[in-house]
Amino acid sequence: MVSAARASELGLSVIVLEKSSVVGGASVGTEAHFALDTVKYIAENNHPTWTKQEAYDYFMLFNNYRSNATLVSAFLNHHHEVFDWFIDKGAQVRMLLYSLAGPETGAGLFFEGRAVALSEICQETLAANGGEVIVSSPVRQLVVDDQNAVVGALAEDADGKTLFVKSKATFVGTGGFGRNKDMIHYYMGFRGDNAFAGDTFLEHDGDGVNMLLGAGGIDGGLRWSQGQTPQVLNVAYGEPLDRAASEPYLWVNKYGKRVGCEFFTNLTIPFEMCSYAPDATYFNIFDSTKVARMETEEFFTQSRGLPYTYDPEPGMGQALDEGAEAGLCFKADTLEELAEKAGIDKEGLVGMVAEYNGLCEQGEDTQFFKDPAMLLPITTGPFYAIPCVPCRLSTLNGVHVNENLEVIRSDGSPVPNLYAGGLDSGSFFMTDYNHAFSGSASSFSFFTGFHAADVAAAKLTG
Ligand SMILES: Cc1cc2nc3c(=O)[nH]c(=O)nc-3n(C[C@H](O)[C@H](O)[C@H](O)COP(=O)(O)OP(=O)(O)OC[C@H]3O[C@@H](n4cnc5c(N)ncnc54)[C@H](O)[C@@H]3O)c2cc1C
Repeated sequence: MVSAARASELGLSVIVLEKSSVVGGASVGTEAHFALDTVKYIAENNHPTWTKQEAYDYFMLFNNYRSNATLVSAFLNHHHEVFDWFIDKGAQVRMLLYSLAGPETGAGLFFEGRAVALSEICQETLAANGGEVIVSSPVRQLVVDDQNAVVGALAEDADGKTLFVKSKATFVGTGGFGRNKDMIHYYMGFRGDNAFAGDTFLEHDGDGVNMLLGAGGIDGGLRWSQGQTPQVLNVAYGEPLDRAASEPYLWVNKYGKRVGCEFFTNLTIPFEMCSYAPDATYFNIFDSTKVARMETEEFFTQSRGLPYTYDPEPGMGQALDEGAEAGLCFKADTLEELAEKAGIDKEGLVGMVAEYNGLCEQGEDTQFFKDPAMLLPITTGPFYAIPCVPCRLSTLNGVHVNENLEVIRSDGSPVPNLYAGGLDSGSFFMTDYNHAFSGSASSFSFFTGFHAADVAAAKLTG
């Protein structure tokens, strides 16, 4: 939609084919967008961010230098354009957040009406410039000529009839393959199979990625995903159980073994720990003294639902009782009984708690080096276990693209007239999504749409 709106404004004649009955895709869930102070609003509000050089160095290092450097550079140099454009068109910034890695990294731009408001701006712009949207009409195939240049697409309309849309430039952005279980298994293996997929309510069936691969595109990092802090199944972000699950008490797998340092400054860290746990589950273990702590003292970990707070949760005890009653977590008078209820190895858990209490007593975490202030022994029943599973908001990558969002074949040449963006494009994130760059999935999507339109318009209109 960003690409279509921008292209229509630049004088191109645009048709959007949309599989769902409404446009907007993942914008219904999206909250924050990564940006540097090259965005006018951020600079005007003196919100400190990394420089482009700092962002480049950090991003490339985090991705083990596998990211396409020219694409990263294009993002850093151009991402502000789409946000300035939205704000010029009336988007209201509700707040500026820091990245989870702290101040002076990237700003989380958070708009009134969230990303849905931005999608509405795209729809209005497109309509005002004579663009057309055809909903409930999934694209089934890209059409190529005898030079393998893309010349249009075949879609199926709401009545099952085939539509042929002829085009001089085609932008593919269908949101990845989050709900295509075969593709998840093929590209991500057991880590993909085990993760809870947060986008199965969207039409993320891998259509675009498959069409792009079919047109000559190559894998741009299809195995990586947009992981999130592990999830307590059926509990919303920011609810008491979700908050308790994120606290750095004692995290063990089903054998009772500790899975890593329980304190995280980046949502990616527990996602990775959980992905490798047997059965992709870990349990946060604590006792009644921690319940009292959470009811009266500041949390160690910030909540991840608005209003993003560290404040105490006075109703924690009751929430845990209700959660245990509903089967969302476990509560027992002894550790043995707790292990039995939660399906954790009994000897393993009892032994681990004794070992962990020893670390607490000595005031030094010689195993995973957790801050001594967070070494709180587990001594006084009742005891609790909250099971957590890895959660993936979406897949992360599609096909390899260059800095102009052109789809690149294995010989390095672009497929003529073909652009890919958002989760159907790749080679930008080359490991699992990094929440120190929080909001960069949507920022990257917006950038790809906007920049591809600029590039295509320049080519087509000279
Ligand atoms: C719940 C949730 C919360 C998120 N929160 C954040 C956040 O706070 N910050 C952040 O940076 N990222 C966030 N993300 C990720 C971010 O939203 C996505 O990375 C980004 O929006 C993806 O954009 P896209 O254009 O690739 O896909 P989408 O926005 O999903 O658009 C793809 C569109 O293509 C349509 N489509 C699919 N197949 C076809 C077909 N065959 N023919 C025609 N149309 C088709 C779909 O219906 C959809 O409308 C979140 C994701 C989810 C699911």
